[in-house]
Amino acid sequence: MPISLETLTAPEPDGSASGLWPTNVKRVGGELTIGGVPASELASEFGTPLFVIDELDMRQRAAAWKLAMDTAFSDLNGAKVFYAGKAFLSVGVARWMKDECLAIDTCSEGELRTALAAGVPGAMLGLHGNNKSRAEIELALDSNVAHLVADSLAELALIETVAAERGASASIVLRVTTGVHAGGHEYISTAHEDQKFGLSIASGAALRAIEETLAAPHLDLAGLHSHIGSQILSLDAFKAAAAAILELRATAAATFGYVIPEIDFGGGYAVRYTVLDDVPPAPSHYADALAASVRSHIEATNLTAPRVSIEPGRAIAATAGLTLYTVGTIKQVQLEEGSRRYVSVDGGMSDNIRPALYGADYTVALASRCASDETVVTRVVGKHCESGDIVVKDAALSADLAPGDVLAVPATGAYGRSMASNYNLLPRPGVVAVRDGSARVLVRPESVSDLLALDADA
Ligand SMILES: *Cc1c(COP(=O)(O)O)cnc(C)c1O
Repeated sequence: MPISLETLTAPEPDGSASGLWPTNVKRVGGELTIGGVPASELASEFGTPLFVIDELDMRQRAAAWKLAMDTAFSDLNGAKVFYAGKAFLSVGVARWMKDECLAIDTCSEGELRTALAAGVPGAMLGLHGNNKSRAEIELALDSNVAHLVADSLAELALIETVAAERGASASIVLRVTTGVHAGGHEYISTAHEDQKFGLSIASGAALRAIEETLAAPHLDLAGLHSHIGSQILSLDAFKAAAAAILELRATAAATFGYVIPEIDFGGGYAVRYTVLDDVPPAPSHYADALAASVRSHIEATNLTAPRVSIEPGRAIAATAGLTLYTVGTIKQVQLEEGSRRYVSVDGGMSDNIRPALYGADYTVALASRCASDETVVTRVVGKHCESGDIVVKDAALSADLAPGDVLAVPATGAYGRSMASNYNLLPRPGVVAVRDGSARVLVRPESVSDLLALDADA
C-alpha cells in the first residue's frame, strides 16, 4: 500500500491547531523551543532520551478540567477532579495539581508517598488497586485518604480489620463494574465482566458489597466508583456507565434506605497522538455529559444529587509532554516495492512501551533545526534487541537527517516515564519541566551506576 506523504507529514508544532504539541512550543531560528528552552540545549544539558514537560500547559489542562467540572456541576452538588497519578507523577507534578485545586489518585505505596511528599492532604487523595497490601491500606488510613477504593469483598474485610485495629473508621468508595467497556472509538454496553477489577452490578456482587460495607462497624460508605477504560471518545459510553452506576445508587437507597453521597466516574478521556486521530471532546463536553446524566437521575428518583468526581490522567499529562531523542544509525532497507529508511534513536521501548504494547502511533518532528524541503518515509526505531521496538511507525522526516540531529516525539507526557523499564539495562530517562525560558529537573536521569548500585554482585 503506498503511503501518502501528505498524511504522514508531521505537523509543525503549534499546539492549538494540531492538539499534539505542548502549547508553549515554538520554532526560534529554526529550532524547536519548549517553554522557551531550545531542544538542543535541553539535549546537551540533560542528555537524551529526555522527557520534557511544558509546566504551564500541564497546569492549564488541569485547571481546564477543574473549571469544566465546577461549571457543569454548579447547580448540583459540586465536583472534584482527581489527577490519575499513574499517567506520570513526581513530587513537583503533585504540587502543581495541588496548586490547581485538583486531588490526586494513586494506586500504590510509591504513588501515595510521592503525593504525600508534595504535601497533598489525605482529603485530596485516593488509593485504588485490585490487590492493595495491608501496608498500603494502613498508610491510606493513617493518612486519612478520602477515597479508599475497595475492589473486592475480601478487601473490604481486610480494611475493616485494619480500621478496627486503629479504632478508626475507613471511608470507602466501592469500585463497581457497570458492564460498559470502552476505549478508542467503540464502546460495548453489554460486555462480559471477565476482568480483574471491581464488583459486578449485573451479578449482584456490587449490591452485596454495599450491604456489607453498611453493616461493617468500621467502614463508612462514601461512594461508588466506575472506570470504563481509556482513550474514550464516546460521550455515550460515559453516559451509559453513569446511568448504570446511578441506578445502583437508587437501588441501594430503596433497598437499604441509604443515599450514597459520592459517585466517581473514573478516567479515560481521550487525547490525540497523531494528526490522523479524531479530535476528542473538550473537557466541558465530557463534564456536561456527566452532569446531564446526574440531572436525569435526580429528576427520576428525587434523591439528592451526589458529589461527583472524575479521574483524568492522560488528558492532563499526555500532550503537555514530549520526548527528545538523538539520531544515531540511519539505514535504508530495500522492500519488495520501494524502500524504507530506518532511523535509530538512543531510547525506544524502555521509555515508551505503548507502540510495542498497544500498537500505538506517534508523530515525530526534527527539533534541532529546520527540515529540508524533501522528506523521506521513515520508521523511527529504538536501540533495543527487539524488532518490535518502534518509536514512530511511519513518519515523513527530512531527507538530510543525520546522526546527532535531535528529534521530538509529542504526546509522551502520560504513560511514558511512568511505564519506563530498564530493558537491556538502559537507564531510564530524566524528566524536566520547562517554563519561561528555564528548565528544572523533576526526576533526574538514571545512570548506569544507579543500575549497578542495585546489583548485589552475588
Ligand atoms: C488508569 C485509570 C485512570 C486514568 O486513566 P486515563 O485514561 O489516563 O484518564 C483513572 N482511574 C482509574 C481507576 C484508572 O485505572
